[in-house]
Amino acid sequence: MSAPRIAVGGVVRAWEGADRTGVNVAYVRSVLAAGGVPIVLSPLLGPSYAARALDGVDGLLLTGGEDIDPAWYGAAPSPHLSPPSRERDLFELALFAAARHRELPILGICRGIQLVNVALGGTLYQDLPTERPGPVAHDPGQARDARSHAIELEPGSRAAAALGGTSLTVNSFHHQAVNRLGGGLVASGWSLDGLIEAAEAPAEAPWLLAVQWHPEEMHAEARAPERGLFRALVAEATRVGEQSRATSPRVGAGSDPASWTSGTAVDHSPR
Ligand code: MN
Repeated sequence: MSAPRIAVGGVVRAWEGADRTGVNVAYVRSVLAAGGVPIVLSPLLGPSYAARALDGVDGLLLTGGEDIDPAWYGAAPSPHLSPPSRERDLFELALFAAARHRELPILGICRGIQLVNVALGGTLYQDLPTERPGPVAHDPGQARDARSHAIELEPGSRAAAALGGTSLTVNSFHHQAVNRLGGGLVASGWSLDGLIEAAEAPAEAPWLLAVQWHPEEMHAEARAPERGLFRALVAEATRVGEQSRATSPRVGAGSDPASWTSGTAVDHSPR
């Protein structure tokens, strides 16, 4: 059994005078700690290369970042919206669609839960303080790994299984959140003000789990329950990867290289 390849959605940022592309170290470390091989995918690839970029990949991690353009869910922009990235929206919507088509396991974090929800027809709160003020501070301005608010998880859910329990205090820095849930998703975690903090595909559907907080920031804490989210993604990616290699001989370890060049037996269908 070899370590599964996990695609990690990246960002483009101006930094020290140059435009650069990559992703926060915390996501890469979290996938590595769980036994996966992180493959960072730049949004510069664009939607037309999203599916190609997933070839040979066994799982997908959608990461945090920019607000999603509310046009995707039919809303006018709030004055409190932070500038969206059309480039990143287009790339990640295509990436998500391609990963779903291949039934790859998907973990969404922060923007990731929002992207998944919008892709499946749901809506977002564009700015919690102005649209849904409440007693819980979702962006308290503390250190990125500071646990600040409690959440409750649905017993028996994928979220509870991965996190090893039904209650947890999480770090939180977001001003947007899931409003109306998208099709094929069930809520599985809430903060005490009733906001959705975790959502997932039901048990009979391919593995999909998304959370609103930032489990990746706990990568240095060896016993953090959050590590279970990455372990669950990697375990499912391992299972799905082995299954797909077993049924697709041209990418299996025992495939005959001659079949690639025979001119008659090459199968160009997407995996
Ligand atoms: Mn929160």
